[in-house]
Amino acid sequence: MAKIPQILLIYTGGTIGMVKDFKTGALRTFNFDKLLKHIPEINHLNCSINSVSFDYPIDSSNMNVDNWVALSEIIEENYELYDGFVVLHGSDTMSYTASAISFMLENLSKPVIFTGSQLPIGDLRTDAKENLITSIEIASSQENGIPIISDVCLYFEYKLYRANRTTKVNSEHFEAFTSPNFPPLAESGVHLKFNKQLLLNTNFNKPLMVRKKMENKVVILKIFPGITKTIVESILTIKGLKGVIMETYGSGNASTENWFISLLKNAISNGIQIINVTQCISGTVIMGQYETSIELEKIGVISGNDITTESAIAKLMYLLGENIKKNSFKSIYETSLRGEISVKE
Ligand code: ASP
Repeated sequence: MAKIPQILLIYTGGTIGMVKDFKTGALRTFNFDKLLKHIPEINHLNCSINSVSFDYPIDSSNMNVDNWVALSEIIEENYELYDGFVVLHGSDTMSYTASAISFMLENLSKPVIFTGSQLPIGDLRTDAKENLITSIEIASSQENGIPIISDVCLYFEYKLYRANRTTKVNSEHFEAFTSPNFPPLAESGVHLKFNKQLLLNTNFNKPLMVRKKMENKVVILKIFPGITKTIVESILTIKGLKGVIMETYGSGNASTENWFISLLKNAISNGIQIINVTQCISGTVIMGQYETSIELEKIGVISGNDITTESAIAKLMYLLGENIKKNSFKSIYETSLRGEISVKE
């Protein structure tokens, strides 16, 4: 008889496991074992579940690179023992963490499903139960003993997304996330329907490599009409700065004023990598489509294509940490490494 899938639940914190502090009325993280007691249903799933928790579960607003490394190490240490992983995480920065983990886990061949909730698990109208139960079901879905999903994903409110394509768009609706430039990998209704043609081509023979050197001397610069030279200059001359995600207008357009272009040009010649991503919720950067982006292309600004800002910063931190040669950085950044952009791998 086939062995039932072994799933590891990793609790990092977030609303899903929070309780109200009776003194302040604010939500704070609490004990993971209590959380599982609220969902006896998970014992009926056709898989075996073990769990591990961060020593100090956190609100995801406190996530940082050290936490990402800690999470990647939990997965690394348990990789051979389990068939799938479900990560419980606060929704606020879930897209950042899940994007980062997608880059940190190279040659992943098992499912890593991030989920959380808008209401705590103990709340009568909670969305936590469905999110958690279906995430576990997805992590244990196999065909002929091979996992259907071998990617870092995010499951929320009946939809499974490629994690590095997501962004949080709503702080109160149960449907808190969207994947603006890539369709859901699965939808949960009466049946769990996978869109198999959208899944990554996984090479199951390559060993997992965990990349832990995430460079955090980076910044996100969102431009706006009226932004001054002083502001842009002080950001681009930050000591030790290695990379910038520049959020531009529309299809990657920005001011053509001399001072702006020459500040960017100087930064690039000082070895700073500048990535052009759009401020629009969906769509792609096409440098050269308008006059207002031709100059950016000429001076060596890198195209983020249709990447989300969350994924762009994670990819930047990952590639800078890998000490890639300066002259190949642009072409590697513009390549799809984990399905994060709509260009060829
Ligand atoms: N503030 C919470 C967090 O991100 C919100 C949530 O879990 O949805 O940890």
